[in-house]
Amino acid sequence: MRLLTAVILGAALCAPSPALAAQAAAPVRPGGGASRGADAREVHGAAVPTAGGAAIHLDADYPGGNIRVLRREGGTYTLAPDLRDTEGWWFHFNVRLRAPAGLPVTLVFAEKNPLGVRGPAMSTDRGRTWRWLGKAAVRSFAAGGTPCWSFQGSVPPGAAEARFAFAPAYLESHLREWLERHRTNAMLQVAELCRSRKQRPVELLRAGCLEPQKARGVVVLTARHHACESMASYVLEGLLDAVLADDGLGRRWRERWQVLALPFADKDGVEEGDQGKNRAPHDHNRDYSNRPLYPEIAAWMKLGASVGPRVVFSLDLHCPHIRGPWNDRVYIVGSPALAAADREKAFARALERVRRGPIPFRAADGYLPAGVAWNKPGNDAAGRSNGAWARGTFPGARFAGAMEIAYADALGVEVNAHSARAFGRDLAEAILEHVEEAPASSSANPVGPASGLTIPVNPAAPTTP
Ligand SMILES: [Zn+2]
Repeated sequence: MRLLTAVILGAALCAPSPALAAQAAAPVRPGGGASRGADAREVHGAAVPTAGGAAIHLDADYPGGNIRVLRREGGTYTLAPDLRDTEGWWFHFNVRLRAPAGLPVTLVFAEKNPLGVRGPAMSTDRGRTWRWLGKAAVRSFAAGGTPCWSFQGSVPPGAAEARFAFAPAYLESHLREWLERHRTNAMLQVAELCRSRKQRPVELLRAGCLEPQKARGVVVLTARHHACESMASYVLEGLLDAVLADDGLGRRWRERWQVLALPFADKDGVEEGDQGKNRAPHDHNRDYSNRPLYPEIAAWMKLGASVGPRVVFSLDLHCPHIRGPWNDRVYIVGSPALAAADREKAFARALERVRRGPIPFRAADGYLPAGVAWNKPGNDAAGRSNGAWARGTFPGARFAGAMEIAYADALGVEVNAHSARAFGRDLAEAILEHVEEAPASSSANPVGPASGLTIPVNPAAPTTP
């Protein structure tokens, strides 16, 4: 792995960001109540003595942490996701329990249920790896006419803490661990795209064929426009693993295609444990305007414009809602333009054809056409999305859009770090199949060697479906 710029992420990432350091140093005052982020952290710092004299600590004062403690009675905590600047309700939470090993603590959510179809996710190694506790771990009941959902948690013997979250977390520390695994790979470069609003370094990855004259084209990948959508990051990891792998698929990538990846489009939101979705005044995936609010989006748009004619594929990875139709499967979000929709459906067929990993994908029900379910024109009212921007900026792309990765369950198959990475590999193969096959119609752009690219530069006017 090579480092592109003088600002070496490996060094920059080792120290806590100024914001997190300041947060960690903030004084802890006793307090309580249903307050927002800062006040909620004050509650969590307090310890609750148990009958045996031992203490229970429940908090979210770490990267990715998110919880509000509304009430506590002994070892029972009533919690809620910390919405911060989210408009409306969202379900992301990530809470740490420190208590004597084996001491059960009951965690309750009231009114709205942020526990997914496989229950909460649990980590006993400080958030590095996770497993689903399972649907059976969740109890539903009514208290005073209010619907409630609860589960029991405890710190297992030998562990210092346990974390519980809506879904497995994926933070900068996970990316750093992945980068370390590929440290000696010359086909991977990491650079700083920009600094976030809170001065965190925002990673830009280049992988595959790194010689511009040799590459036939560029594939751009993004994730975490919505900070909480962590399973998308495991898919991205698997996709990049495939690009870098010492096998036939990896060699095809490295001989022909360059990847540009933005792993954290909302870096501050990821590290601070924000929901990110429906952030006020608009979230990162509605920021593709002439005057973006967020430095990551401004920098990505600039980079995109600079490589626009060479981009053959642009994929923005997301996660959907908690459960129900279109949430318990992996699917492509269809574009309104017919030519683009035709190319997306062709990609869906390629993905179905090459898929080998455990997560199922069927073109017939893995494609959400424009106008169906939530995928309607008004959905973009708050601002232009990455997909809409990409379709205008990358006129030669044979796919420019978004994909939703279910958090926990895809057509009955468990979604976890392992299966999500395997799906990423399937995507890597499907993308090659799709961009290397002969154009299906005159609307598709032929892709040849770099010197032969004649794809026109995008006109300045933005296009919004
Ligand atoms: Zn999203």
